[in-house]
Amino acid sequence: MPTQSTTPANVYDKILRGGSVVDGSAAPRRAADVAISDGKIAAIGDLSAAAAMQVFDVSGKIVAPGFIDVHTHDDCVAISAPDMLPKISQGITTVVAGNCGISAAPIRHRDRVPEPFNLLGPEPAFHFDSFAEYAAAVDAAQPRVNVVALVGHSTLRAACMTDLTRRASAKEIDAMRERLHAAMQAGASGLSSGVFYAPAMAANMDELITLGEVIAPFGGVYSTHIRDEYDGVADALHEAFDTAFGANVALIVSHHKCAGVRNWGRSTETLPMFEAAARRQSVAMDCYPYTAGSTVLRLDLVDGEIEILISSSEPHPEMAGRMLREVAREWNVTEKAAAQRLMPGAACYFQIHEDDIRRILAHPLAMIGSDGLPHGALPHPRLWGTFPRVLGRYVRELGLFPLEVAVHKMTGLSAQRFGLRNRGLLKVGMAADVTVFDPGTIADRATYAQPLQFSIGVEHVFVNGTLAWDDGAPSTQRAGRFLKRGGD
Ligand SMILES: [Zn+2]
Repeated sequence: MPTQSTTPANVYDKILRGGSVVDGSAAPRRAADVAISDGKIAAIGDLSAAAAMQVFDVSGKIVAPGFIDVHTHDDCVAISAPDMLPKISQGITTVVAGNCGISAAPIRHRDRVPEPFNLLGPEPAFHFDSFAEYAAAVDAAQPRVNVVALVGHSTLRAACMTDLTRRASAKEIDAMRERLHAAMQAGASGLSSGVFYAPAMAANMDELITLGEVIAPFGGVYSTHIRDEYDGVADALHEAFDTAFGANVALIVSHHKCAGVRNWGRSTETLPMFEAAARRQSVAMDCYPYTAGSTVLRLDLVDGEIEILISSSEPHPEMAGRMLREVAREWNVTEKAAAQRLMPGAACYFQIHEDDIRRILAHPLAMIGSDGLPHGALPHPRLWGTFPRVLGRYVRELGLFPLEVAVHKMTGLSAQRFGLRNRGLLKVGMAADVTVFDPGTIADRATYAQPLQFSIGVEHVFVNGTLAWDDGAPSTQRAGRFLKRGGD
């Protein structure tokens, strides 16, 4: 008999029979059936006596909460390409957009979307002057996964300032605060910053604290792409900790890494910094399971030491897929000179050591986020492979941590840190975002050379109770929606 039920007649919409439930809390798996009705988890337990409109045999499979990709740049693609195939195919049911200080709202770019806002895609039509308009556009597009969104600090600066190379004036800060407040009222989940990027570099801690104070009463989170992930990583982390502490908001450090050959191994220094900070404030981080980062082509990242793979180049599209080193040799110029000729463009930078990746992934404060850049023919493979890669390579092959811990880093921990009250756990009454996968086969297939590849081993994905991915292909229905702060 069902252990708990919200459907009196015990005829459920769906029953997933015979699987191992990994509930997202990091608790050990247990054998149980899971019933779904009206978009919610209706029962978990022995449901052999219960009936359902649709029954799925999931014996031998893991039944987990739908994965939450806490670090995405899916703001625009959720509207322009709502099938969200790179995400649903990995078992992701919710994406957090608006990271790194760059969000699609509240700003309307004029004719051309400037760097780095074009990391969201080049089309100005998918940027919105108000956050409420953006949320409505997501709902109208009905993407295949749910969308949570942060407000980008760089976006606020670009919307309220004419000269981004200086600090904001008191009047400009007031204008930003007003836009941010309106966005929080319209359901934004918090503020993101990217003081690493030109539009925000001139901002100081006071500017960020003043903005952080706007989201504090809403319980919003502050996520940041810190100023320096290279030699200055320790100072940049202190700036992030102090900013969040000063504004009294929960902090998420984005895609934590120690970049550049000189800094390899320094996660042994940075992770204890997180632990020390966690004793006085709410701190967490996200990370992806790859040794290359990816962003726009930038001369300061061309250090002559690390390998750099060209993902795209506006003036030289034919160089996409080539190593910068080879291109420089062919042109008989330095790597920096070659990079300059290739700009604007994007690249993958092999800047992280595998040992740091493993230490960071395994840290209890670390959640999984893809940081996928959802456009172009040669995106970093993390766009299509992040979550199955953690479960296949790092759990099954390398045994870095138990599967239950990996799922927690993709679901329960993520929902808790981003304040999604109704997601991230398999529990009766919660939204029925559910991912069923084969623990023996799940694996990424996307590579740097061929990044547009479905992963394998993700069998069924349910979003708000609707079957969204079925045996390696998208279903006919899309049921994602915009999730306001706190989730629903
Ligand atoms: Zn970033």
